[in-house]
Amino acid sequence: MGKVVVVGSFNVDHVWTTPALPRAGETLSGEYATGPGGKGFNQAVAARRAGADTAFVCALGDDLGGQLARSLAAADGIDLRDQRSVRPTGTAGIYVDGEGRNSIVIGAGANAELSEDFIQAQRDTLATAAVVLAQLESPPDAVLAAMRAARAGGAVALLNPAPANATVTAELKAAVDILTPNETEFAALLARHVGERVDGDAIAALDQARLHAFCRELAPEASVVVTLGASGCFVSHPAGALRGDESAYYRIPAEQVRAVDTTGAGDAFNGALAASLAEGGDAPFATRVRFATRYAALSTERHGAAAAMPRRSDLAERFGAA
Ligand code: AMP
Repeated sequence: MGKVVVVGSFNVDHVWTTPALPRAGETLSGEYATGPGGKGFNQAVAARRAGADTAFVCALGDDLGGQLARSLAAADGIDLRDQRSVRPTGTAGIYVDGEGRNSIVIGAGANAELSEDFIQAQRDTLATAAVVLAQLESPPDAVLAAMRAARAGGAVALLNPAPANATVTAELKAAVDILTPNETEFAALLARHVGERVDGDAIAALDQARLHAFCRELAPEASVVVTLGASGCFVSHPAGALRGDESAYYRIPAEQVRAVDTTGAGDAFNGALAASLAEGGDAPFATRVRFATRYAALSTERHGAAAAMPRRSDLAERFGAA
């Protein structure tokens, strides 16, 4: 089993559940809960609990949030490599209304300080990786350095291009092996209006011309996995780098589960896919994606993001095989 190195964000999430979302000038009462978040940390927890030896490279403040990150990483057996910042640890203020809609404000804080130099300084850790997984809640230079370090060390460069409003430069596209947008992020990548959704059927009948134009900017061996929520995902190996698969384009359905909270499903998917790829061996890519699909589905049966990440043994119990 090879190692997964996740490069990304850690946030302390503050969540208020209120009957309605507050309007300008309005004061409301709500139920409060707090816990860890940030796409990077969620994905690191998922990779670890899915069975991979995992390191997490991030930037933290010298404060209670930073202490929380350290103690949670230690509790999960994650090798934490943190750049110490004078800015506060990242935070997210989240309001959720009675219908599950939310409004979110993110204070990137220390996450915005994660530097290319710090990534370079982690070269020994990155050199041991089988998979390097990053997202876009960290500065573009740091993400690019992480993806390039992955390639240089012979590891898989896996990029979850989230959130959708972050920019993916041509340089970054050229540096990744596997790209895992959700529908909204995929639409944004295809230079459509940010926030527009491309539904599963539209993706299955892909606008080939546009996809090909987009894929020409990817590395020749790159693959794209578009996650489609409850509809599963769509895998595309545009240049025919099949990774053990028989087909260049195919759909994998989601597992049928009783989803109660899909927050962090994408993070679960990415962490589990990284863990499965790090296992090595000659299993087809489709088998690894199926593992990630099951793992992500199980995460939706529990509330929360990092806290809801299942363990490999839970997967075996629920689906009969891991
Ligand atoms: P998303 O980021 O919403 O596209 O979700 C990522 C992955 O999580 C999907 O590709 C599915 O495998 C899984 N997933 C998300 N929502 C559900 C759901 N309601 N039921 C089952 N699986 C889900």
